[in-house]
Amino acid sequence: MSARMSDVLAMLERLVAFDTISRNSNLDLIDFVKGWLARHGVESLLVQSDDGTKANLLATVGPAVPGGVVLSGHTDVVPVEGQPWTSDPFRVVERSGRLYGRGTCDMKAFLAIALALVPEMRGLKRPIHLALSYDEEIGCRGAPRLIEAMLGQLPRPAAVIVGEPTEMRVISAHKGIAVLRTVVTGHEAHSSQTHRGVSAVTTAARLITHLDDLARQRAQDGPFSDGFEPPYTTIHVGTVHGGTAVNIISRECSFQWDVRSISEDGPEAILEGFREYCRTVVEPPMRRIGPGSGVTTELLVEAPALAHEDHNPAIELACRLAAVDTTGRVPFAAEAGLFQRAGLPSVICGPGSIDQAHQPDEFITLEQVRAGLGFQRRLIDALS
Ligand SMILES: [Zn+2]
Repeated sequence: MSARMSDVLAMLERLVAFDTISRNSNLDLIDFVKGWLARHGVESLLVQSDDGTKANLLATVGPAVPGGVVLSGHTDVVPVEGQPWTSDPFRVVERSGRLYGRGTCDMKAFLAIALALVPEMRGLKRPIHLALSYDEEIGCRGAPRLIEAMLGQLPRPAAVIVGEPTEMRVISAHKGIAVLRTVVTGHEAHSSQTHRGVSAVTTAARLITHLDDLARQRAQDGPFSDGFEPPYTTIHVGTVHGGTAVNIISRECSFQWDVRSISEDGPEAILEGFREYCRTVVEPPMRRIGPGSGVTTELLVEAPALAHEDHNPAIELACRLAAVDTTGRVPFAAEAGLFQRAGLPSVICGPGSIDQAHQPDEFITLEQVRAGLGFQRRLIDALS
């Protein structure tokens, strides 16, 4: 039996109908997938989050032997609140060759194709492992324990294909991400007594400017990694909250920032340098006025970059299946860097365009779904 486009579209409809915005549980979707696989004789292993409200799913289709290929995708989607959607985000609607719905492009179409093809995977000589994660959109939080379970319980795969939307281009490298929160504690005083207080707001402004200087330095002097747009590590402050009234020298101000790093210039050195700057330059004068004042920085989320490797079996496989001979690099973070860190050759290649990911009226074209279907079919052939 061969899966038709209509089977893939029906599967996509089912997957999109589960509201798996990262803050919600993904268990209904996982149960559905587990049931679908069970009906085709495939067992699933669930790897739960600490609080049990979410789960990763691992399933091996075909013989349990080494040398298989992992198809990896996340089950969570980004929020829809505050976005002007034309139709219900959790119902797939087709309009002029496009399938609209939250997650159609990022990245439930990739998963829908893999699941719809399971009935065609009977003749596999090497396995296809399905790896569905949770909480990718909020910092790849589910993938580390998924990977741990994979290494511990499955025969070692030869390659990992992460199906993030790349319009079926083969992506050999992505940037890493670190999300940080800095909290400045000042010393309160009446705003007419500036010599008696330490303003948390002013100190935060100074620190933000310092980060901006670090960012400009990188834009100017590198290090650079060709193929990325932009080709250097970026540092960006996204939110600031501080102060309570205009006539009070503020006691607290916090800001969140992220570092999106090329593999040659990771976030560790930036964070270490920033803490050193706080310790040696910023805090001593603060403490002379307010002994309890200071700056703390916490790493909230981290996912490593996927570094380009000249000889990577995952890239060679994806290029063959996609019939392309060039590779690209993307600035967004993904789970492929985590797989690579675990020693598994990894690549990103999936249907849909990143331009439509996270957008209101997110869509994937039928043409991209067809291309993704062709790619995964050729993978089945290659492993059969
Ligand atoms: Zn994604």
